[in-house]
Amino acid sequence: MSRARVFTFIWLAFLMLFHPAISFSKSSSCIGTFEAEPSPFFRGGVSKVEFGLKPGCLLKRVDFEGKTVPYKEEDSGRLMVLVGEGLKAKPGKRAVTFYFVKNGKHFKEVRYLTLKDKKYPKEYLKVKRKMVSFPPKILERVLADQRAVRKACSAVRPVIYWQGRFVWPVESKVLSRFGLRRYFNGQPRSPHSGIDLRAREGTPIKSPNAGKVTLVRDCYLSGNTVVIDHGGGLYTLYAHLSKVKVKQGQWVEKGQVIGLSGSTGRITGPHLHWGVSLLGQRVDPLELMRILGEKS
Ligand SMILES: [Zn+2]
Repeated sequence: MSRARVFTFIWLAFLMLFHPAISFSKSSSCIGTFEAEPSPFFRGGVSKVEFGLKPGCLLKRVDFEGKTVPYKEEDSGRLMVLVGEGLKAKPGKRAVTFYFVKNGKHFKEVRYLTLKDKKYPKEYLKVKRKMVSFPPKILERVLADQRAVRKACSAVRPVIYWQGRFVWPVESKVLSRFGLRRYFNGQPRSPHSGIDLRAREGTPIKSPNAGKVTLVRDCYLSGNTVVIDHGGGLYTLYAHLSKVKVKQGQWVEKGQVIGLSGSTGRITGPHLHWGVSLLGQRVDPLELMRILGEKS
């Protein structure tokens, strides 16, 4: 073998060994295209992950950080999973693991998403002492409400009920943003778990997509509260309603009126508090709408 050929041979062997794209595609890669939006994504936000499969590959399941998440087919023929991280999440890499069968062999492939930090607003207020802590009886009720809400939006269904783009429950101004942290006399409260939308008393509130009502409850703080399961671990929550027009367990269509806005619960004026929960974490409804909302 000539020196030049030996050199070429060594160089090729080096490429095969150390160039992951070459060695991977020759062995067992099933993921064709892979795109996440937004990328990176943010603490308290969501990410839509779209991917295509290579021929002969059968997708068995997708895990996000060790939790199985359902996927659905897009109009484009590509597959999609929706993932998110709550406000307490630490920045870093997040693994999306794909399990495949190809030529009778089982194997997995991992892709990583990057989660970045995001600053959320703070507000310092001086309030009367009784606003800071609840008497025991009230606290008991507040905690029972919280447990009921958490239970109503915790299951990750193996199917996705929502389809197409999400519509706004009410088209109006955002009065208070997600993640806002209030300090009462220097004591931090829980960050705002949703957004407040301006809505006069009696404004019809629509379901932003198809789903199943998992909770109708009169809560101490959030008043008349409705939770809708959109499948795949995605839930939306509506608070302070003056009237509820759905029943627990009922199926709702996109755009269906689920109730009327109001000022029930412990608030000062009528508005709609709108919350979104994804895979057991509260995320910013504005982020969901930015990525999956109807384009106006
Ligand atoms: Zn609110």
